[in-house]
Order: sequence, then C-alpha cells, then structure tokens
Amino acid sequence: MKNRVQELEKLIIHHKSLYYSGKPEISDHEYDALENELKKLDSENSVLNLIGSVSTNLEKVKHDQKMLSLDKVYNLEELIKWKGSDEIVSTFKVDGVSCSLIYDNGHLVLAKTRGDGSFGEDITDKVRWIEELPKTISIKEKIEIRGELYANEKNFFLLSDEMISRGLEKPTSQRNIVAGLMGRKEHLDLCRFITFMGFDVLGLNSLKTEIEKEKILSKNGFNTPRVTLHKNNNTIEEEIENARIFMSEGDYQIDGVVFTYNDILKQNELGNTAHHPRFKMAFKFMGESKTTKIQEITWQVSRNGFLTPVAEVEPVELSGAMISRVTLHNYGMVRQFELKSGDEIEIIRSGEVIPKFLSVIKSSESKFSYPKNCPSCNSDLVVKEIRLMCINEFCPGKNKEIILNFIVKIGIEDLSSKRLDELLRVGLVKTIPDLYKLTVADFMGLEKVKDKLAEKLYENIQKTKSTDLITFLSSLGITGGAYNKCEKVVHAGFDDIEKILNLTFEQLKSIDGFAEKSAEDFLQSLREKHPLIKELIQLGFEIKKEEKKQTIITDKKICITGALSEKRSVIEDKIRENGGVVVGSVSKNTDYLLTNETDPNSSKFKKALELKIPIITEEQFFKMI
Ligand SMILES: [Zn+2]
Repeated sequence: MKNRVQELEKLIIHHKSLYYSGKPEISDHEYDALENELKKLDSENSVLNLIGSVSTNLEKVKHDQKMLSLDKVYNLEELIKWKGSDEIVSTFKVDGVSCSLIYDNGHLVLAKTRGDGSFGEDITDKVRWIEELPKTISIKEKIEIRGELYANEKNFFLLSDEMISRGLEKPTSQRNIVAGLMGRKEHLDLCRFITFMGFDVLGLNSLKTEIEKEKILSKNGFNTPRVTLHKNNNTIEEEIENARIFMSEGDYQIDGVVFTYNDILKQNELGNTAHHPRFKMAFKFMGESKTTKIQEITWQVSRNGFLTPVAEVEPVELSGAMISRVTLHNYGMVRQFELKSGDEIEIIRSGEVIPKFLSVIKSSESKFSYPKNCPSCNSDLVVKEIRLMCINEFCPGKNKEIILNFIVKIGIEDLSSKRLDELLRVGLVKTIPDLYKLTVADFMGLEKVKDKLAEKLYENIQKTKSTDLITFLSSLGITGGAYNKCEKVVHAGFDDIEKILNLTFEQLKSIDGFAEKSAEDFLQSLREKHPLIKELIQLGFEIKKEEKKQTIITDKKICITGALSEKRSVIEDKIRENGGVVVGSVSKNTDYLLTNETDPNSSKFKKALELKIPIITEEQFFKMI
C-alpha cells in the first residue's frame, strides 16, 4: 500500500508538470483517475494540493528551534583540536538553500527556508513538486527534517531549457537558481528540477547517535549526502580528500565537509553559542580563484564516447601552480554559458584537483559554436542530455581510451599513452586482447625501444594475466563498474568468473549499492563484455578466486525471515562478508534461521522448529560475527 502511495505521488507530480509545460502524456481523465486513487489511499496526502502558481503569500514562519549557522575551520589541525577524542560523523556539505520540513502524523505539513535563522519563508507549495522528496513517511511523531535544496548538474541544464522555452530568463548558476525558484510566485512546477538532501532529524527522542539519523532518513526515502563515522583521526583526512575529488567530479556542488559529534547526549551537553552549535564544525576549502582568458576550447573523446571540453587558457598562477588548461565540465556547461575563445573567465582550484571553470567575467564578441563532428573519427555527434557523444562504435579516439583505461586499471607498467598511440598507429594493437599477443620483437620495432625495454614491456604485460577478480572486473570498463562496485558484487558471493558470467538482474539488484537503473546498466554493459572476458581467459588469464574469510559462520547456510532492524540486503552482505551463504528457504541442509520473530506462525519458522534447525536473533547473529 505504502509503495503505491509513493508511486502515485511521483506519477501525479510528473504528469501535472508535463501538463504545465504544455506537453501532456496522458488524458485529463487518466490524470483524474490517479488523483482519485491517491485520495482513496491517503486523503491527507500533500501531493493532492499541488498548485502551479501561488495562492498563499511568502509568509514568514517561526522555526521551533533556531536554524543556526556553522562554525568553520580551514585546516586539519584545527579540526582535530576541536574534535578531541570523541567519535565524529562527517557529511558532505551541499552548497544549496537550507530548508526545514515538518512532518506530522506521517505527512509533510510545512516547509520553510532558513531565512534569518529565527523566521523562514513558507515554501510548502514549492517543495511539494520535488519528486524525490517524500510526502509521506513512516514516523508518526511530529518531527522536523533539515537539509539542503539544490539543483544537480543535469537538472540545472534541463531546467534552463525549460525556462527558456517558457520565455523566462536563463538561470545563471546552479546555486542562484534554487533561491530564485523558491522566491517565485508562478511556474511553481519548475521546482521539480530541484532535489532535497536530508541530513538532520529533530524531535525523535529515541535517537542516540548522529549516524542513526542517516539510516532513518534513507529508510524513509530521503536522499542523504555521503555520511561516514570516524572512530579515530586516520579516516578524517581521507574523507576530506574524497570531498575534494567530489568537488571537481561530483554531479552536485559541495563546499566542504560538516563534522558532528556522534553522541547525541554529548551534543546536548555542549549546546549552542548564540550563533552556532558547539558540536558541529564545517571544514571549508581555501579555494583560490583567478581570472584568465580562454585561448581555445578542445574536445576530447572519452572511453564511453562523451566529449569533454577543455579550455587552453592564458597561463595564470593559482594556488602555487601555473595553470594553462581548465576543464569546462561538459557540453551543457559550455552551451549554458556560451563559452568561446576570448572569453574572460573565473577559474578555481581547490587543493590538488584540476582547476575548473566557475563563471564568465566578460564574454567575447565572437560567435558561439560547438563541434558537430567527432575530433577523432569525424562522425556526426549526438546530444545526449548535457553531453555531446560520438556513437561510432569503431571511433579510434574512444577505442584508445578504452584500452588505456584497461592498461591503467589492470596495472601494466611503463606502457604510456604515447606508446599506445604508436602501437595503434602501426596496427599492432586494435583491441585489449591484442596487448597479450605482442611479442618482444614487436616492441623492438617501436621508436626508441631497445631490447631491455622491449623485454620489460613484454613481461609487464604478461604478468598482469595473473590477477584477482575485482581488479579484473574493474579494468573492463563496465558502465558503473568502478572498483568499489565490483568489490561489492564479488563480496556478495559472485566470487568466480563463472558466477559473474551468469549474473542475473535480480541477483545484482539485491546487492547493496545497486538500484534498478544501475543494475540494468551494469548488467547490459557486462553482457557486452562477455566476448572480451572469454577471449582474455583463452589468452591465459588466471583469475584468482577471492579468499573466503574464516569465521564461525564460514560456509554456513543461513536463511532470513521477517523484519530486521536493517535492510535485508545489509544483513545479507554481513553474512557473505563473513564467509556465510544466504539461502532462500529452510531445508535440512540449512544451518541457521535468522529472525527476530518469536511467534512461530511463519512457514520458515515452523519448518526450522520441525527440522530442529537453530534459530538465532539478529542480536545473536551480530555477537557471533
Ligand atoms: Zn569518434
């Protein structure tokens, strides 16, 4: 029932906004049927009150608890000093508009901006349009959820197009547009391009730790930023580094990391100053920005066929380094700001990451244009959302990046991008398997390669044939198949190549970290790699099986039934991580039934009793491992 309510919420928002855009996909009659169904299931659902233009004014509403700003530090030493010996939790600091949501009896009843911290503006009419913001939750108490409203990169560009088509002014930046939409009185449905990320829960007395908040939020369908618990100082620096990388590569904007004491009792003890809580600290990056001029924009084909724009700029010193190349993110960004040579732009570099384009200072007079043909193979380019794409299957530029990615990931040393260019040019290498057919004599024929180096290159390639399964999978360039994702698959019990080749959609979807869409993409891409995998094995690849962890439950068959405190997939992962095997039904071969139920009504419970199979609770299970 609950799922249908949420499904209906999304459908109604989707179709109503299409209606406002003048592009309806269903008839009025079909739309009414959706509303009627929702009315029957949940007459108080706030999606039933969607409106396209504001009836209420932007009223000031008081915050029950002040929304304070955060204290800031700019270096690790200061942060560690503030932290002391306590456990802390970190979350990426989303750069958007702060928002407070009030839920009562499971329904969204009020949304407001931060305002001056004491009074915010009523934005309930607007946030109702956000598809991914839950309108109904399972918590019945009156609670407040705080978080950030923002536009991710893709939605920003889609929104920009939609605004232009409605004759509205083109938005200037990902951050400004959110504040702009929250202040609008018409075109409220445009708020559907906004996303809400939740990070704080107020009013739930049962909460003991900060980390539990994230669990409650995700369980109720909220997006949450990356949350990590730090028991000691080692992982803190690592997380700050992760944030740095996310700043240049992530699809939404963050401007630092927020650290919070994990123990809520301790939080209450520390309390607040007049301006900020003492138990929270924002780590901010000292980003330095400079102005420079674009000399030329070049487009590089990546291994998935997307074209990445890079600006060659007038050299400028930034955070101690001379900068002459700046990433312009993607086609959407270039089109949005009509970037071209001669433009004066502001660039930023935070930490060690590649500098990136921030804003246009002065636009040049020359005409804006973008490539229509692939710089590598000259085929016609296709616009795919915010990216330009070369869809030529045999594009040499794309092919080179695929092979280069493999070389780096599988760990072939000394085979540089330049040397690969040469191998491609002379036709010795056309595909990944060709690398393993190269002989010492082949290398001797290359420029500046003597016998010693030729032998070394040959051996460096050959020795990568002995590898582990996770490294092997992650070098294939599977869509969404980064190392940590492949690790999850392998650790979920798909620990040899046969199991990987037979992986099904249902199996993949049940693994933590794979949603419907990502499982679909991963699997389709994996299937396309089957011939490659088979060819590599024929060439002598020996893929080591993952060593199983030896624990008390190694090889024990465990069946789960009934509700658990965590998502079932989380517990299943725990079983597999510890060498156990998850089974779907109880038989005489089952070693344990894991359940929190005490009432022997479920069929699995009855059967376990009958077969005298030990029944363990979740708590006992955690003690065992
Ligand atoms: Zn191409």
